[in-house]
Amino acid sequence: MSARILVVDDVPANVKLLEARLSAEYFDVMTASNGTEALALARRAECDIILLDVMMPDMDGFEVCRRLKTDPATHHIPVVMVTALDSPADRNRGLEAGADDFLTKPVSDVVLIARVRSLTRLKMMTDELRMRAITSLEIGMQAPERSAVADTGKGGRILLVDDRESSYERLATILAAEHTIDVEPNPTEALFHAAEGNYDLLIVSLDLNNFDGLRLCSQARSLERTRHVPILAIADPENSTRLLRGLEIGVNDYLLRPVDKIELLARARTQIRRRRYTDHLRDNVQNSIEMAITDALTGLHNRRYMESHLATLAEQAATRGKPLALMILDIDYFKSINDNYGHDAGDDVLREFAVRVRKSIRGIDLACRYGGEEFVIVMPETDLHVAGMVAERLRRSIAGEPFAIHKGAKRIEVTISIGLTTLEQKGEAVGDVLKRADTALYRAKHDGRNRVVSHAA
Ligand code: GH3
Ligand code: MG
Ligand code: MG
Repeated sequence: MSARILVVDDVPANVKLLEARLSAEYFDVMTASNGTEALALARRAECDIILLDVMMPDMDGFEVCRRLKTDPATHHIPVVMVTALDSPADRNRGLEAGADDFLTKPVSDVVLIARVRSLTRLKMMTDELRMRAITSLEIGMQAPERSAVADTGKGGRILLVDDRESSYERLATILAAEHTIDVEPNPTEALFHAAEGNYDLLIVSLDLNNFDGLRLCSQARSLERTRHVPILAIADPENSTRLLRGLEIGVNDYLLRPVDKIELLARARTQIRRRRYTDHLRDNVQNSIEMAITDALTGLHNRRYMESHLATLAEQAATRGKPLALMILDIDYFKSINDNYGHDAGDDVLREFAVRVRKSIRGIDLACRYGGEEFVIVMPETDLHVAGMVAERLRRSIAGEPFAIHKGAKRIEVTISIGLTTLEQKGEAVGDVLKRADTALYRAKHDGRNRVVSHAA
């Protein structure tokens, strides 16, 4: 996993040191010696993580971080603040500025590499989602970065797993100022509780009595319902080796006891923001997948989907030795519906037509809008005789009941013609099947419309 790390420090010796350590672990390193340079590089070059010195002349690290986190072009890049002094005040200023983590100089090798690795993993996942979401942006959906930058990370749903009463009471009181919080003192119940609760964040104590908190974390990572819920671990300082192990198995962040109030709130907000951001990206991806295979007007599958899926269905039919029927349906004199009643009325007819089609077919049948007022229905495990009955029923469901247009103010007669065929038993190219159905449709039109014509293979 080769990630590109931007190291920002005004002291050349510090830059050299971090660069050497990271390069030794095969990270790709870029450097900047001041804030302005860092901001320009971050906007331009694709860096995966930024290690940012706090004390710099001109613009200090807090200001650089704040700017990175409020710019939609860079806000998703994890920022690690590198501080000379580990003072709580510094930490809190950094967290308020949106920093994702801290390293204290002199930086320990183990901690440096563990943090960079875990942030890299997260960054890779977000990048993948961002890339796929670009498609949604291209078709006019909202940019997820904008809402993420505006999100304060408050108002989340948090599950706290901790069995020490004095500890969970204090933590819950602090968190309740900004979030809805549930406490689960029984670790064996926690996974179930987490899966049922639709949480934005799990906070897990690693100092549970007779129970390994890390086991819970790893179970939460592998369970479908909790896989994407961020985990914040809390541990006693002497448990820090277990924390590193936690980061390896997918714990997102940690706090050491005694827990600082502001740090707890800030880290919870950061994880919740990130959770909402990645959820949003995931929804966008899901939407664009659906939009890519669905016809927007009728909600039926589109031609592209039908053509790729038809090949699969034909192959299945051939290998299993089952029949496969295919029909093309075309609305009669549709152009005159548009001409006489307007394009919107034409759209109403298409929508209602799709509703009636859906009612007449089975779940395993594939219905798609093939062109303007042309539709294709593919029926697995259906022979020509049965398909003929389905087609006839469909024809009657259209011709037998007038279509409402102009918001129900008017009703008009609509008829369709259907060309029907089946796949040859030995298997043939789907293009040939479509062609045969089209020839049958042409005959139905020629013979007077409002009828079904079958063309045996
Ligand atoms: P035939 O009985 O021979 O099929 O005649 P027809 O008028 O239905 O066939 P033709 O192919 O000449 O006309 C189809 C019309 O469908 C032309 C086109 O403007 C219209 N059309 C295509 N897509 C849409 C659409 O999404 N909405 C509406 N309202 N009309 C559409
Ligand atoms: Mg037509
Ligand atoms: Mg037509």
